Amino acid sequence: MTKHITGLHHVTAISGPPQANVDFFTKLMDQRLVKKTVNFDDPGTYHLYYGNQTADPGTILTFFPFVGAAPGRPGPGMASAYAYSVGEGAFADVVADMRNRGGRISDPEERFGQQVATVTDPDGASVELVAEPGNHGPAEGGFHSTTLWLDDLGATQRLLVDHMGYEEAGHDADDGAERLRLRAPGDARGTVVDLYRRDGAARGVQGSGTIHHVAFRAMDDADQLDWRERMMAAGMQVTPVIDRQYFNAIYFREPGGVLFEIATDPPGFTRDEPLETLGEALKLPDQYEPIRDRIEQALPRLSA
Ligand code: ZN
Repeated sequence: MTKHITGLHHVTAISGPPQANVDFFTKLMDQRLVKKTVNFDDPGTYHLYYGNQTADPGTILTFFPFVGAAPGRPGPGMASAYAYSVGEGAFADVVADMRNRGGRISDPEERFGQQVATVTDPDGASVELVAEPGNHGPAEGGFHSTTLWLDDLGATQRLLVDHMGYEEAGHDADDGAERLRLRAPGDARGTVVDLYRRDGAARGVQGSGTIHHVAFRAMDDADQLDWRERMMAAGMQVTPVIDRQYFNAIYFREPGGVLFEIATDPPGFTRDEPLETLGEALKLPDQYEPIRDRIEQALPRLSA
């Protein structure tokens, strides 16, 4: 069998002001804020990480919240959605409860035999809930999938199937739109990638309410280097390994234009604070500790 991707590691998106983002994801979506740090390339901006209680790969959603961000627009060349897994036994209650608490949530529809409801976040972005076997809520489920919006599915499909070990798991087409479902073998979180296309769609514009990149898991540094070789052999232009404090990262743009990352599971989010207090204190990488006072003064106040 071809070597295959295990599943999603994290999804990174762009939001507007951070407080609305924190309130939405920790209260309505029931996620834990597992890391409060800064954008390593722009330390005047937060980098916020949400996840399950133990901050496991496959549950991690991260945001760069720009106070004055111009609104973006999803479209071809971008990841356009991510979905949390919710247990079938809890799905109707979770949807009703979110609606009761003021969440903007669609009526469930069916996709490949599963119930899907879409919640709209404070920046207008879609957060999907997909019903899967079990009774878990979105706090425990982690990711079910991500959707890549493309002008043409072929080249991305070939990369994922021929070089990343994904298998075709469904195809649906009507009204000038199509969705191809790919699935990585195994039972990790976030094994599904949907490739989506719609006739006449305008190219996506990056800004608040859009997804910046999607990251797949590597088990360790050696596994990541092996993926790096494989992706370069597949014709991708891959960055060197970059230290992101909580994982090591490599990046490349897949043929449809979506930014992909492959991130290592270790060292994880307990690298610089204990599990019990994850996300409470502002954590800075070593290079920014000398200017912590300035950084703290520049960042907007946040209450959890
Ligand atoms: Zn990333």
